This record gives sequence, structure tokens and C-alpha cells, in this order.
Amino acid sequence: MIPLAVPTMTGKERDYLLECVETNYVSSVGSFVTRFEEMVATASGAAGTVATSAGTTALHAALIAVGVKPGDLVATASFTFIATANAISHCGASPWLFDVGADDWTMDPHQLTSALERDTSRQGTALVHRPTGRRVAAILPVFTLGLPARMDEISALGRRFGLPVVVDGAAALGATYRDRPSASLGADLTMFSFNGNKTVTAGGGGAVAGTDLALLRRVRHLTTTARVGDDYTHDEVGYNYRMTNLQAAVGCAQMESLDRFVAAKRRIAGRYNSAFHSIRDACAFPEPEDRRSACWFSGLYLPTVAPDVVVALRASLVAAGVDARPFWRPVHLQAPYQNCPAGPMAVTDRIWNRILTLPCSTGLAEHEQEQVIAAVHAAIRALG
Ligand SMILES: *Cc1c(COP(=O)(O)O)cnc(C)c1O
Repeated sequence: MIPLAVPTMTGKERDYLLECVETNYVSSVGSFVTRFEEMVATASGAAGTVATSAGTTALHAALIAVGVKPGDLVATASFTFIATANAISHCGASPWLFDVGADDWTMDPHQLTSALERDTSRQGTALVHRPTGRRVAAILPVFTLGLPARMDEISALGRRFGLPVVVDGAAALGATYRDRPSASLGADLTMFSFNGNKTVTAGGGGAVAGTDLALLRRVRHLTTTARVGDDYTHDEVGYNYRMTNLQAAVGCAQMESLDRFVAAKRRIAGRYNSAFHSIRDACAFPEPEDRRSACWFSGLYLPTVAPDVVVALRASLVAAGVDARPFWRPVHLQAPYQNCPAGPMAVTDRIWNRILTLPCSTGLAEHEQEQVIAAVHAAIRALG
């Protein structure tokens, strides 16, 4: 089976891990953590970062840091991995779910603008969602598949309505919007994930990136048990969300290959897109001209095909030894989130079950990709 996405571990991963073991720095203190944070900050255009145990925990801490409280709503896209919504829930808040744009599959600022204008009003310092009476506390765009959202418009909207913007950029390290890197696009904080299936992995882990050093200090305080001094004094309920030196050792070695990995992802996506151009019903994953996607995953979008045909296509690819997968079931269709406030979902409902992701490991060999392409053409012919 040609796997969907496995890490490439051909750099200094082994050396750096060995260094951790030999120096006994295996836990949450160690030079790799600091180095990793600096590397992620440099690569994403941030002033600093805080490394964490996961992307989900990074997002949770970031949301608390910008002031999300129990009972609040956080405006986000329904078309995302469930971790985005879970991080909101972990604050005691709920997602306010929005559709994505047809041309980029990320948060649509126009839809968000009209919803904020129509459904909210200012009560004192709070922006209140009138239908539920709940405070709207933040805007959370997701950089779908590593493609940045329209951040100029979204951060302007944040300023206009007095809402902080926290980005789920889980897979967007290496992406740009109007030639600017992913953590320098006007958000208050930006999260990255280093889970095993991301372009750059630390085995597991996350980071919060930002340009406001005081806000980053607040994130670090929250993720390190809210400790003050060294005598076991803690000034609030904190979290043990630290990244270990072992994770960071792998992360540093991986970050040394970031440019190469992103180039590989983009090359793989480009090859699929040109190979499937001739298939009548197939579309590439979107990439508008003002943005450069990190192309975390690549594959096929079949807008005019019935979802059960996509399921059949996937089954025949798996039978041919190609690990094709479906993509995210949106949050508004997930049991814990069915009753969240949500707008119309025309685009999300059309796309989510017509997407197939295809093998796109950074180490995917050319002949393997040609095998995938041949299998897709054969499977589509067989299905008529
Ligand atoms: C991977 C991912 C996450 C979760 O990150 P973890 O490190 O697995 O906690 C969140 N959001 C999106 C969009 C992701 O792709």
C-alpha cells in the first residue's frame, strides 16, 4: 500500500534524539525546545512562539490567552478537523459555525461580515450574538489544507468588531498570503501542529506563534501550569501543555528540511493537478492567486459526482494499493456540535464528501506517484 502521508526522517532526527538521551535532557526543559521555538518563529514570520504538546492544546491556550471564557461563542469554519471545535469547547465556549468560500475552502469574510452585522449588537464592552444572548469572543479562521484565509479582510473585521483573531494554521507552515508568511498576517495568535501526519512533525506537538511578546508570555504561563517563581506557587488554573525536548529534537531536525518538504508537497500537488486535468469531473484543490498553499494534502475534488461514487472510487483505489482517504466531515455534522449556532453551509455541504486525498508523503517517489495516477485513471474509467 502506498501510504497517504508518512514522515521523512532522513535528516538529523536520530542524532538529536541520541543527544537528548546522552545528556539526560528528555523532558520539558532542554535546548531543543528553545531552538525549535526560534526556528518556527523565523519560518512563520512571528516575533516568537511557544511550543506545546499538541496543536489542539496550543489552540486551547491561545483562545484562553485572548480572553475566551465559558459561555462565549467563537466564530469559525465548519469545514475543519474537529480539534478546532474541541479547543473552543475546552474553554467552555461553543463554535459559531460558518461556511467556507467556494474559491478557497477557508473562512469567507463576506459571510462573516453580514452575520456579525445582522446577528450581533454591542452591550457595554461585549459583542452579543442576539439569537443566543451569548458573547462573541473571537474569530478563528482555519488555513484549510495549508492555504491561508483572506487575512487582510478578516483582521480588519476583527478590529472593526473588537474581536481577537486566532488562526488554526495547523498545516500552514511554509504558506504565504500576499507574499507574507503564515504567522505575520494580522492574527493575534497563530497555531501550528506537528502531529505525525503534518508536513513537519515532532512526533506530536504544536506551537503558538505571535507578534505580541506580552501575549506570548501569557500563553507560556498558561501552558506551564501558571507557575510564579520556583516555590510551587501558581496564580491561576494552568495547564501542562509543554513540548518535551525529545519531541523538539525531532522537530528541529524536521524544521531544517521545511523548505524542501514544502517544495515536495507543492510538486506532488502540481503533478496530480496536471495529471487529472483531463478528467472531466475532477478539480484541483483551490489555490487563489494571492496565496501560496503549503499543500499539506493533495488529491481530487469531484464536484459533480455523487458521494457514493466517491466512496466506490476510494474502495477501488485501496484495492489497487493506493491509500486514498476521505477528508474532514464538517463540524456541523458531528454529534457534539449539531446544536451550535450555524449559518448556511452550501459550499461545505457540497465539497466535504466529494474530496479524495491521495498519497502525498514528502518522500513519495516519482514512480509511486505515477502508480497512483494510473490507478486513479483506471478506477475512474471502470466507474464510467
Ligand atoms: C492536525 C490539525 C489539528 C490538530 O492538531 P494536533 O496536533 O493533532 O492536536 C487542528 N486543526 C487542524 C486544521 C488540523 O489539521
